[in-house]
Amino acid sequence: MNKEEFRKNQPVAYRVLSHALKSNSLSHAYLLSGAQGAPLSQCALLLAQSVLCENPDEDGLACQKCTSCQQVERQEHPDFFKIGRDSLMAQKPLRRKDIEAYWKNGGTLELPEIKFENYTIKKDQIARLQDFFSKSSSSEKGRRVYILEDYDRATVQASNSLLKFLEEPPEDVIGILTSHHLSNILDTIQSRTQIISLRPAGRKIRQEQILELIDDEKGAALLADHGFDQQDTARILRENRLFEMQEVAEKFLEMKGAHKAIYYLQHEIFPFKNKEFNRMDFQLFLYWISFLSFERKDLSLKKKLDTQTTCLKILDQLKTPADAALLLDRFCFYMHEIF
Ligand SMILES: [Zn+2]
Repeated sequence: MNKEEFRKNQPVAYRVLSHALKSNSLSHAYLLSGAQGAPLSQCALLLAQSVLCENPDEDGLACQKCTSCQQVERQEHPDFFKIGRDSLMAQKPLRRKDIEAYWKNGGTLELPEIKFENYTIKKDQIARLQDFFSKSSSSEKGRRVYILEDYDRATVQASNSLLKFLEEPPEDVIGILTSHHLSNILDTIQSRTQIISLRPAGRKIRQEQILELIDDEKGAALLADHGFDQQDTARILRENRLFEMQEVAEKFLEMKGAHKAIYYLQHEIFPFKNKEFNRMDFQLFLYWISFLSFERKDLSLKKKLDTQTTCLKILDQLKTPADAALLLDRFCFYMHEIF
């Protein structure tokens, strides 16, 4: 994570950690917490780098350039231990054409979230951590760091082992736990850590994270615009026709609200007799209409703005239990008026 982003987006956490780093008064364990979308892993890594950095800046934060910083990033630093889920992450972003093929032909979609469901921190992993820190530090500074990501995924046995470790931590060992679900972490663990809360990431960061998952700039921008993060995206890819909705929206705009466009939507795309109709697909369709209409050169600014307003209105009504078929009719009616 970029330090400047951290300073700007997480001012409180920045101040607290900067002070501790500069004054050499770090806690022996931190618990970074925040709602879904808060950049916990990125901050944990930056903190680990800062603790071990050979050349920290005036605020005590990592230079992110020295050998030590790079080793932490690659998880090769001899004084750094991490249990996390990034090893479970898909190595490369999913290709758009694979996602489209999945929706067309079925089969499987290799999503990190599916693997994530199996992620737990087990007792033997904590035992390995204890073993790792039973040896002495390799550097002169003597500090060592570990990260335990998504600690709410730890088993009770793992937590019991970790508790003993937290009660009598080896000298100069600093722990960084992260969790989006603080209430799922034992009070005894919480009380032995310093809790730092982080705010959900800004749009730009979420977009970058989504791009790690799919290789489609527009799709990532669209989802980030509407507040979705990487995990939401994984769910959407599995349950919704993200790219098909893009094509439908493009076609609809191409037809400029003509009656055949309305027919196309009502009969081809959203066949409401079919119980499978998915409100989220409809929602995605409206996002795309709003997004794509702004790119079109054949629409006046007024038409673009009116289209946007219409989409917002319908999206708002979609949150109520209102009948989706009725809302689609309404959408078509408004769009016909605009064009
Ligand atoms: Zn450094």
